[in-house]
Amino acid sequence: MISANEAYEVIFKETAPLGQEEVPLPEARGRFLSSPIFAPIDLPPFDNAAMDGYAVVSRDTERGFPASPIRLKVVACLAAGTSQKLPLLRSGEAVRLMTGAPMPEGADAVVPFEEASDENGFCRIAGKVSRGSDVRVKGEDVQKGQRVLEKGQLITPRTIALLAALGISKVSVFKKPRVALIVTGDELVEVGRSLSPGKIYNSNGPALVAALQELGIDPETVTIVPDSEEDLRGEFLKNLDSDLLITVGGVSAGDYDLIPKVLKELGAKIIFHKVSIKPGKPLLFATLVRAYLDTPLLVFSLPGNPVSALMVFDRFVRPALLKMIGSRNPLRLRRSAIAEAELHGSQGKEVYLRGIVEYREGKYFARSAGPQGSAHLLPLAEANAVLVIPAEKGTIRPMESLKFEFLGER
Ligand code: AMP
Ligand code: MG
Repeated sequence: MISANEAYEVIFKETAPLGQEEVPLPEARGRFLSSPIFAPIDLPPFDNAAMDGYAVVSRDTERGFPASPIRLKVVACLAAGTSQKLPLLRSGEAVRLMTGAPMPEGADAVVPFEEASDENGFCRIAGKVSRGSDVRVKGEDVQKGQRVLEKGQLITPRTIALLAALGISKVSVFKKPRVALIVTGDELVEVGRSLSPGKIYNSNGPALVAALQELGIDPETVTIVPDSEEDLRGEFLKNLDSDLLITVGGVSAGDYDLIPKVLKELGAKIIFHKVSIKPGKPLLFATLVRAYLDTPLLVFSLPGNPVSALMVFDRFVRPALLKMIGSRNPLRLRRSAIAEAELHGSQGKEVYLRGIVEYREGKYFARSAGPQGSAHLLPLAEANAVLVIPAEKGTIRPMESLKFEFLGER
């Protein structure tokens, strides 16, 4: 059986970004740039006022100019957005102007209203202002031609602010993979129907769809398939054109766990089946070469226990998908916390506990979110973190340090 780290290694070896496409800026959030961005204009595009105030010739406010406080003649008033062209501002003159208004030629500083007073047609300035004070200089933030964003960078509201300010309306990003989700099990009933004896609601389907949507991916198909070789084979064949296929359930050691068999019959190459982790040990990863396409179909088969399914998706499928959509850092950030109570791992297996982590007095403290059985959904819902107990460590003692990852964090 391979270790979690060996599993990552092979997964990353088999996954790569998929090609690129252009998307309009309003649809770009959550995507990754497929090429760097160069600034088409300066930011700011022209010298402008950083405050509401008076544009002045700073020399006027320096030692020697008539008397203190200084009195300047207000020759114009400028709002942001104006295209009014003023004659060169001369010594002894000021222009009343608002934040964002272009600096009049000849002016080199702005005196905020708070530091000036006005008296019919003149303004009074109490103190000295230095050259450039409260002026935003053309290109001081970004210079035309400057490389501002890198290939592989995530588009966030913050990068969208920069792109929009630069007037960029479309960006090249990596394509999203086409994902198919096959949920297996005779016992499953769709939410919204009534339960009959022996049946349970399909919770993995909606949970995994939501987990995919968190990555900005809407699966192309989601189907529930009974535990029948024929039905499974049929469903696989229907989805052969996907980039990535996720199956849930039917991959363990039970009599009706048919996924590995069906995959092998279809000619898939099983890269690994079973990883020394808990929960999620039966995880299977396979590739299926298609003669008519350049890239193989990637298949992840997740165990059906709801906790295992989501944990394994989060830890192994999500990084694969992130790499495919162009992320350079597909793994979650790992931090350290202090165990509040004893935490139980399992010798020889990397254990992922559903945990609650709190920040107190400058430190993270971790505790179990509740029973750790792989069918316990309540602690899964309440957890905000995965506590990672290394394979070589059976137990974490109270106050001992351990690693964790916040769930829901990028
Ligand atoms: P399996 O991996 O198919 O052997 O399933 C393991 C356990 O997970 C069984 O108790 C299943 O009933 C349950 N299970 C499998 N698939 C789902 C699902 N989609 N939603 C909820 N529970 C499931
Ligand atoms: Mg099953």
